[in-house]
Amino acid sequence: MAKKQFKTESKKLLDMMVNSIYTHKEIFLRELISNASDAIDKLYFRSLTDDSVGMDHDDFEIRLTADKDSRILTVTDNGIGMTKEELENNLGTIAKSGSLDFKTDEENQSENIDIIGQFGVGFYSAFMVADNIKVESKAFGSDEAFVWESSGADGYTIKKCEKDKAGTVITLHIKEDTEEEKYGEFLEVYRIRELIKKYSDYIRYPIRMETSHK
Ligand code: ADP
Ligand code: MG
Repeated sequence: MAKKQFKTESKKLLDMMVNSIYTHKEIFLRELISNASDAIDKLYFRSLTDDSVGMDHDDFEIRLTADKDSRILTVTDNGIGMTKEELENNLGTIAKSGSLDFKTDEENQSENIDIIGQFGVGFYSAFMVADNIKVESKAFGSDEAFVWESSGADGYTIKKCEKDKAGTVITLHIKEDTEEEKYGEFLEVYRIRELIKKYSDYIRYPIRMETSHK
């Protein structure tokens, strides 16, 4: 299947993330957890008026797993999920990119990089730490699930997949360490816990970390 191309604005943002020299790469976790929380909010609010949701506030959660051997970090939510069209529109195009006026010369680029810290650039920030990202999602009320996958600026694919319940699983393959950058920290349980405490303390749903003791 041919890769689909990102929209121009999104591609610029993505390139910026992939090649980022930004020091606070750790904020990607805040962005993914806040998306998970937003998705849960949507299904939770719906549950208040729609009995078919069949979930209470206590049933909602965000789960994280980290595996050092495979360098895989996952962020799972049981929120509203995304349809195929939503995966395409929400992840292939960064909606708010209109407000980001990208400059091309290098001097201004270092200024732009502060956008990351101040406002967060959302989902694409995960490309600062991951060289492949999969987003498996099943929208509430749908009986089909789809997986969006990308290794960066060369595009993305969307395929059908199997998923039991509504919600989203984000699977990050964390970049290999280099002389300059140690990405392995994002696979360490203590470090992930620290980041959750630092950036995601205000999240109203439990954030559970699954640990595999080896
Ligand atoms: P923002 O959160 O500011 O809208 P993001 O780049 O973080 O921007 O996310 C883009 C969009 O992708 C979100 O608005 C949402 O529609 C969708 N999205 C991202 N993560 C999830 C998720 N875990 N569950 C459902 N939708 C998601
Ligand atoms: Mg977001």
